[in-house]
Amino acid sequence: MERIGRVADADTTPRLSVRARALGLMSVTDVKLAVLRQQPVWWNGSQYHCPVCEADFASPGSAAAHTIADQHPVLRMD
Ligand SMILES: [Zn+2]
Repeated sequence: MERIGRVADADTTPRLSVRARALGLMSVTDVKLAVLRQQPVWWNGSQYHCPVCEADFASPGSAAAHTIADQHPVLRMD
């Protein structure tokens, strides 16, 4: 009777988080470009967000470690 709302997603493109889409980012490529633009001041932040797995980080060190470990572009959010 009850249906689970989530349908198996055959799309190989990872869906980005709501927070990333709110910023106008629609693909991992968009996020990578945004991170490149943040490059000069990226390390000065205190809030980071991975749009691929919706993880948040409170320091640039943990954000960078996630990028290296999982190959995800992590946005600075503050
Ligand atoms: Zn991630």
